[in-house]
Amino acid sequence: MGPRFVSLTSVALGGFFEERHHSLAGAMSSFVDALPDAEHGDIESLGRALGSVHGLYSYLLPESAGGAAVGRGGSKSYVDIRSLVLIREALGYCSPVADAIFAVQGLGSYPIVLSGSDEQRERYLPAVLSGDRIGAFALTETEAGSDVASLRTVAVADGDDWVLDGDKTLISNVGIADHYVLFANADPEKGRKGITAFIVERDADGLHTEQQPMSIEHPIGSLRLRACRVPDSQRVGAVGEGFKIAMQTLETFRVTVGAAANGMAAAALDDSIGHVRQRVQFGKSLGEQQIVQAYLADMATELDAGRLLVARAAYEKDVRGERAAREVAMAKMFATEAAQRIIDRAVQLHGGRGVLRNTRVEALYRGIRPLRIYEGTTEIQKLIIAKTLLR
Ligand SMILES: Cc1cc2nc3c(=O)[nH]c(=O)nc-3n(C[C@H](O)[C@H](O)[C@H](O)COP(=O)(O)OP(=O)(O)OC[C@H]3O[C@@H](n4cnc5c(N)ncnc54)[C@H](O)[C@@H]3O)c2cc1C
Repeated sequence: MGPRFVSLTSVALGGFFEERHHSLAGAMSSFVDALPDAEHGDIESLGRALGSVHGLYSYLLPESAGGAAVGRGGSKSYVDIRSLVLIREALGYCSPVADAIFAVQGLGSYPIVLSGSDEQRERYLPAVLSGDRIGAFALTETEAGSDVASLRTVAVADGDDWVLDGDKTLISNVGIADHYVLFANADPEKGRKGITAFIVERDADGLHTEQQPMSIEHPIGSLRLRACRVPDSQRVGAVGEGFKIAMQTLETFRVTVGAAANGMAAAALDDSIGHVRQRVQFGKSLGEQQIVQAYLADMATELDAGRLLVARAAYEKDVRGERAAREVAMAKMFATEAAQRIIDRAVQLHGGRGVLRNTRVEALYRGIRPLRIYEGTTEIQKLIIAKTLLR
């Protein structure tokens, strides 16, 4: 293990952050030192403890829902993205699986924050905050990945209920989720304008789940809906509003993926510094070799560039209240791609140890890969950036 975790607030100095962020950064540094996943055993307990013990889910919710996110005149849907990037960077550093559960708790509750009825907000959000409920976000299908608007799961009205049929794949938190915010098309002829959001309980009749084995520790699986009956009171927002809700949710959280990548890259850099200081070859430490020094310099520079892009995008969203589509896409793309390069270098610097199963850099090498894919692939981020340039 190398030097102690250093928070983003120290890198991006005053400008982007406020006093409350510095306090949160301090709390997250202590959290990192406590290594929570070792403490809480299985994944589900860890997921619940992030709320019940550590209070982190409060940052996913606005003040109006009992959460810690205070801003933009008490807006009902305001979440403080700068707090979320601080939390995800720290979680990415110490426990990528905790980070994944935290992120999906956000995706599985924000549609309710955004468009849920008063009854849904009261029923779900306090339980999300305490960790009594773990949420999930079910959008992707086998034939609808980057092109999510082409999803084929259908919702047919039947009296006061909806009957859902279809299949979802690659849904995080399957196995530990208590509910899914699920997107189905209530009027396929209208294309994306028919997509509608529903809250489906884990024990709903007609819902079957199956874990999908992953290259990393990450709860994930598929959903099969066969005549799955959901009362109309579980519909989130208006019929046909689901695509907008899904996109707004993803846009809100996307920059935080970059933050998680930065945390993982920082862990790899720290381990590399620790390793090259003590590993001696050819009569001197690796750290005294100039090629090794050049690697470290590149890794640290790329990491700081990723962190600054993330801080800028989070600031734009919080303070200017803008979508900041270009800044967010740049931050997500650059930070995740740079983290992959940094972690690859870290493995190289560790030599053969770097590919021994369950050394930290080896786990990070596998762990960083999905971040370049989920919540919009690198290629999709490039399309978003180019679109804003050519507009
Ligand atoms: C770990 C993990 C967790 C996930 N969790 C969730 C979840 O909780 N909920 C959920 O709904 N989904 C989840 N997903 C799914 C994820 O959102 C999709 O994998 C992602 O959107 C890409 O879709 P796809 O896998 O079908 O790939 P495709 O869309 O088939 O893409 C394959 C390749 O083609 C490229 N491509 C596609 N379109 C274009 C284009 N127009 N131009 C150039 N290149 C293009 C892509 O960038 C990619 O490189 C998760 C995925 C992973 C890996």
